[in-house]
Amino acid sequence: MKPQLQAIPAAPLADALGRPLRDLRISVMETCNYRCPYCMPEGSVDEVALGAKQRLDFTEIAQIAKAFVAQGVRKIRLTGGEPLLRRNLPELVSLLKRIDGLEDLALTTNGSLLAAQAASLREAGLDRITVSVDALEDDLFRRMSGGRGDLSQVLEGIAAAERAGFSPIKINCVVQRGLNECQILPLFEFFRNRGHILRFIEYMDVGSCNGWRSADVVPAAAILARLQSAHELMPLAPTAPGEVAARYGVAGGGEVGFITSVSSPFCGDCNRARLSVDGKLFTCLFASAGFDLKPHLRSSERLSAEISALWRHRSDRYSEIRHAADARKKIEMFFIGG
Ligand code: SAM
Ligand code: SF4
Ligand code: SF4
Repeated sequence: MKPQLQAIPAAPLADALGRPLRDLRISVMETCNYRCPYCMPEGSVDEVALGAKQRLDFTEIAQIAKAFVAQGVRKIRLTGGEPLLRRNLPELVSLLKRIDGLEDLALTTNGSLLAAQAASLREAGLDRITVSVDALEDDLFRRMSGGRGDLSQVLEGIAAAERAGFSPIKINCVVQRGLNECQILPLFEFFRNRGHILRFIEYMDVGSCNGWRSADVVPAAAILARLQSAHELMPLAPTAPGEVAARYGVAGGGEVGFITSVSSPFCGDCNRARLSVDGKLFTCLFASAGFDLKPHLRSSERLSAEISALWRHRSDRYSEIRHAADARKKIEMFFIGG
C-alpha cells in the first residue's frame, strides 16, 4: 500500500535573525505640510520630493500589500510624510481592507487635515488612528512643526476622529531636551482625561538632515520619572510579540507608552517592513537603501518570491549597534514612513 502523503505546512517566513514578518508601514506621500525640525527641517526636502508619476498608484500599493500579507503581514500602517495629503486616501483604505488575512489597518497623521477626512476614512474601513502632538501650547506647537502647524486644527481633527468612532486614539509625542519637556505632564493629563493613549517617543537619529545629537534625547526613564512624580504607573505586559511601546497602566485608569529606540533598542523583536511611496522595500528604519519592488509588479508570484527572499536575508539591527554603525547617509524617515 502506498504511504499516505500529508501536507506539511510551509515554515513561517523568518529573517536571518529568526524574526517573522508581521508588520508593514506604507508611505503614501513623501512630502508634508509641516517641517518638524526633528524630521524634515525647512530646506531639506527639495531633493526627495517626487512627482505624482513616480508614486505607486493605489492598485499597485494594494497588490504589494497583498503579497506582504501572503508572506505573514497582519498589520498595515499608512504613513508618510503626511498621508492625508494623498488625494482620495479612503479609496486606498477600502482596497486594503479587502485583503484576506489583514487584521489591522492603521494610519499615522499630523492631524492637520483630519477633521475633514476622519469620517470617510472610518467608513472606508480604517481601524485605528495615531495623531502626532508634541505640545499643547500654541507657540511651542507651531515651533515644533517648523512654523506651520495650528494646534486647534489638530485638536479638531482628533475630536472628529472620536466622533467618527476611532477609539482609543493614540497620540505620539517626540520629546526633545530643553524644547518640549515642559509638555510631558500637560500632554499626559490632557489626553488621559479624554481616553486617548499617549506614547512618548525618544528623539531618534533617523535620516541625516535633522542634526541629531544624543544630548537632545530625553530617555524614556526620565519621562517616566516625571510622570511618576504626579501619578502612580504600573508596567503592563506586552499584548503581542514585537510590540514596540513599553506600556504602563495609570492608577485610576488610562495607559501611557514609551518608544525607547535609543535607550533600550528593540531590534531583537523587530518584525516590521517599510514600503516607500515609489515602491521600495526597506527592512530597517535606518537603512541607507531599499529594494525596488516595481519591476516585479507584473507577476504576483514573482513579487511574493522577491519579498520572501529579501526578508530571509534581513539582518538589520541598527539601534543595537548605533554607536558602532558607520556614518552612511540614511534614508529620511518621512520618505519611508515613520
Ligand atoms: N506626518 C505624520 C505624523 O507626523 O504623524 C506621519 C509621519 S511621521 C514621520 C511619523 C512619526 O514619526 C511621528 O509621530 C513623528 O513625530 C515621528 N518622528 C519623526 N521624526 C522623528 C525623530 N527624529 N525621532 C522620533 N520620532 C520621529
Ligand atoms: Fe511631517 Fe510628520 Fe515629519 Fe512632522 S513628523 S515633518 S508632520 S512627516
Ligand atoms: Fe527594526 Fe531597524 Fe528599528 Fe532595529 S533599528 S527596531 S531593526 S527598524
